[in-house]
Amino acid sequence: MAPSALALAPVLEVFASIQGEGAYVGEPQTFLRLRGCPLRCRWCDTPGSWRVREHDRARVGGRELVERDSAWASPFQAACWIRDAEAGGLARTVSVTGGEPLLWPEFLIGLRSMLGERRLHLETAGAHPRTLARVLDGFDHVSLDLKPALDLDPPEELALPDSAPRAASDEPAPRTRDDWRRAREACLELVRERDACGKIVVSGERSAADFVPLFDEVERVNPKLLVVLQPATPIGGATAPSHALLEALLDLAAERALATRVLPQVHRYLRVP
Ligand code: SF4
Repeated sequence: MAPSALALAPVLEVFASIQGEGAYVGEPQTFLRLRGCPLRCRWCDTPGSWRVREHDRARVGGRELVERDSAWASPFQAACWIRDAEAGGLARTVSVTGGEPLLWPEFLIGLRSMLGERRLHLETAGAHPRTLARVLDGFDHVSLDLKPALDLDPPEELALPDSAPRAASDEPAPRTRDDWRRAREACLELVRERDACGKIVVSGERSAADFVPLFDEVERVNPKLLVVLQPATPIGGATAPSHALLEALLDLAAERALATRVLPQVHRYLRVP
């Protein structure tokens, strides 16, 4: 494989919008959404990002997305698409999301150098600590998903088409509850003392007890982390949590002296992508 091919990644879309989740909610950002995800989170709101297919194309733009020739992009190409999406406006913080961006570490490292001083954020499921350690210094903020075991279906290996110019990272996805606990704890440790948050999607199907292991892990490993409770948006079979459930989770956080916020997916209310 040519060295440059290693730095390619499949892009789903690049668009300028408003951050709707996590610690930087409300900030104008440009989103770079990569394709490919072996995980199967129960309430995934981007299942269209899971697979990488033969004739995929990237979509790039502001209010209207325009298809490009291919999905596979170098860091330089991605940086150009980011400027295209901003349509000559102010350079925004770039948020790399997915899919699971940690499948493409060489691309992320290259993107950092392409973007110079611009702020770069990472949104990840927190399932690949070895890869996170490789790329972490390139990011100014990391948003880690923290999900209860019942919301994690078994992963599926990412199958790439024969024409794919490179393979995905070989770090295996967690499969068992213990795998997940180890991966989460390693990621929580990596982002200690950094600009980071942990995001917990709360659906009405769950009880407060389902979330106790997550709060315990944060308390044990990274007690200063901001924990954002995100009530599930009632689409795709998810139901919104009750007020009582949210209060019970806030109690769990308070008992552990964890900083917590409850934030719905603001972009859904604003009807922006
Ligand atoms: S990691 Fe993200 S893209 Fe992958 S299944 Fe979970 S929510 Fe969906």
